[in-house]
Parts: sequence; C-alpha cells; structure tokens
Amino acid sequence: MASELKYPRQNVATPWESPIIDDSPDGDPRMLHADSPLRLLSTDLDGTLLDFARGVPADPVFFERLAYYREQYDLVWVINTGRWWDSLALEMAERAFPIRPDWLILTEREIYKLHHDRPVGDYTWNRQCAATHQDLFASVTPFWHEIRDFVGSQTGAELRSDSWSPVMIVARHLREADRIHRFVEERLTAWPKLTVVRNSVYFRFAHTDYTKGSCLLYLQSLLGVTPRQTLAAGDHYNDLPMLDRTCAHHLVCPGNSIPEVKTKVASQGGYVARADYAGGVVEGWDALLGTASLAKR
Ligand SMILES: [Mg+2]
Repeated sequence: MASELKYPRQNVATPWESPIIDDSPDGDPRMLHADSPLRLLSTDLDGTLLDFARGVPADPVFFERLAYYREQYDLVWVINTGRWWDSLALEMAERAFPIRPDWLILTEREIYKLHHDRPVGDYTWNRQCAATHQDLFASVTPFWHEIRDFVGSQTGAELRSDSWSPVMIVARHLREADRIHRFVEERLTAWPKLTVVRNSVYFRFAHTDYTKGSCLLYLQSLLGVTPRQTLAAGDHYNDLPMLDRTCAHHLVCPGNSIPEVKTKVASQGGYVARADYAGGVVEGWDALLGTASLAKR
C-alpha cells in the first residue's frame, strides 16, 4: 500500500530502525526523545477513548495517564477517527476533554495539526487525497448503481452521501450491517482500488491508499517517528489498517472491541484489554510499556 503512494516522505521509517530526531529545546528537563519508548499515540475516539454515554465528561483515566507520561517524556497524541472536525470538536467540548490532541486524522483519510484549537490541514496529503478520491469515485459508477440497488431493494438501510463518499450506508442494526458488508466485500473484488470503511452500522467508501494506517505512516514521516515508537488503539473495522505492526509496534484494543479487532491485535502480540473503552486503552498502554510504574515514581 505505502509503496504506491506518491507523496514525499521525510525521515521515512524503514520499519523499526529509522534514526531518531531530537528536537527538544536545550535545557528541557524532560528525558530526550531517544530515551522514550513511545513518541506517538494514535487513538480512535468512539468506542475506544469514549463510551457511548452522552453529555457526561469523558473517563479521565486516559487523560491522567497522558499527563503522567508527559511529565517524563515528549509524546504526541493524534485522534484517528472517522469523524469530521465539527463533530469531533463538539464531542470534545460536550465530554469536557481536559487535554486536546496534537494532531487529527479525520474521516479516516485527512491529516490536520491542531493549532490554537483549529485544525490546520497537511496540504500535500489532503490535496492528493481529495484528487485521488475524485478520480476514483468518478470511475466506479457501475459499483454505485449496484450498491444502491441492493441496499434499496434488499435491506431497510438508509442511503446517504457526503463530501467524503458519494454512497454512505446506515444499517438499522448490526445483523443487517453484516449482510450488507458481505455483499459489498464480494462486489468490491471487481474494483481493486476501492475499499469499504465500516464502523458499526455505518459504511463509507475510500481509495485503498487512504486509511487510518496510511495516514498514521505519513504522520510518522512528518514527525520523524518510527512504528516502534508508536502505540495504536482501536475497537472496530475502520481501525484494522492502523492496528498493524507495520504502522504501530504497540497495539491495544479495549475489551468492548469487535472479535475481528481482538483477533488481529492478539495475533501480532498486541494487548486485548479486559476493561472497556478508555480504561482498556490505559490497561494496554500500562501492560505494553510499563506506564503504571512510571506513574508511581
Ligand atoms: Mg471506534
């Protein structure tokens, strides 16, 4: 996948062994990057950091661990989500996030740096991403017809579209979503550059070069961080591309994750937490990197 990308990749991490760049200011009392086992934290939002409660503050356990870790080390946090900025900003406000992420990967494909609480896009990546999708989506018209016909005639799911996917599907329940997923996967074999991005009962479509995983690799190239220095945490289908050791050496999924995620994480030596949501993320973070003992020092 990454080999087909056409973007400049600075300080590209040949897996596990790229040089570490220390840009800490002189006199910084914190340990240097080279001493930190972890420099980049990539977390999904819904179902991973957040449960599905509404209007109550987010579980503070993740933010407390993040603050502890940052007392010792530099650590960049990226929220890697299917949401768009307006929705994410509203959620962070309503759930009273005490710490904001440094970077955002939005709609599973676009990259932004959060600057004074506003997202500033990575022009090179996002422009190429938009152009690639425009070309791809215009070239798969027969697929759109096939999907609309199936969903409209064989299911009760809702068909939508937005700026990121000319066809979006919202199934009524997981069983219906599973049936749609099987149909879509079967039909996608005729369109090798097109992939389905599913989160629970929600579906959108994307180019195979643009996933949470490829975005994370590109962000690593911008930051001079390796997969070995990266932890990724997610719970659902759309997280599978980043829950891979080619993207992140440290893999975590909370206890509420779907079986497919648990299986993939476990098969690569990652951590399947007993606790759900943010508690599970911290449980895995502690287990893989010993951050519980760090917090007690
Ligand atoms: Mg999720």
